[in-house]
Amino acid sequence: MSEITETRIGALFKFCPACASPNIHCMPSGGIPERKWVCQDCGFQYYHNVAASGSIVVGTARGIVLLERAKDPRKGTFTVPGGFVNPNEGTGEAALRECLEEIGWAPDSIHYLGSYPNQYTYAGVPYWTCDTYFWTDATEAGELSLQVDIRESTRVVFVHPDSIPWNMISFESTRRAIREYIKIHPQSGSRD
Ligand SMILES: [Zn+2]
Repeated sequence: MSEITETRIGALFKFCPACASPNIHCMPSGGIPERKWVCQDCGFQYYHNVAASGSIVVGTARGIVLLERAKDPRKGTFTVPGGFVNPNEGTGEAALRECLEEIGWAPDSIHYLGSYPNQYTYAGVPYWTCDTYFWTDATEAGELSLQVDIRESTRVVFVHPDSIPWNMISFESTRRAIREYIKIHPQSGSRD
């Protein structure tokens, strides 16, 4: 199946989900050419809003915790523990929950690192996301045998900041977050 690109998002709905009329049209909103649908027969409106995620850059004495993705999008590339925010959840809560689910461990406390936009296509449907990143320094995590959720990740690795495989990081927002973590931890990038 070919991926639906951002410019074709308006073709996702061919009929109004409320009244089944074919007179449903996609239109611009918030500077995005195809963002909301309006049914001209019954007035139904739907906004394809931004999805939120929460993730954690975990720094250890052995390096930064990276997970090799077991599924698309970007199967085989590396990311940090995290995932989409559930209804009635904050970004920090989501980050901690996903961290526990994905590596069998979560820190006691996390610090805000930054928030960056991203695009994420799942099952052919493109989503705009707002990815919020936190950081923690967890010496003990480097000594644990972390257990990956094999549905999500192939393996967990510890990578020194000097050796981050930048072109193999799954998403631009994750690259920006790891760069920011290294910037505020300048000592972590030096082997001296
Ligand atoms: Zn309708």
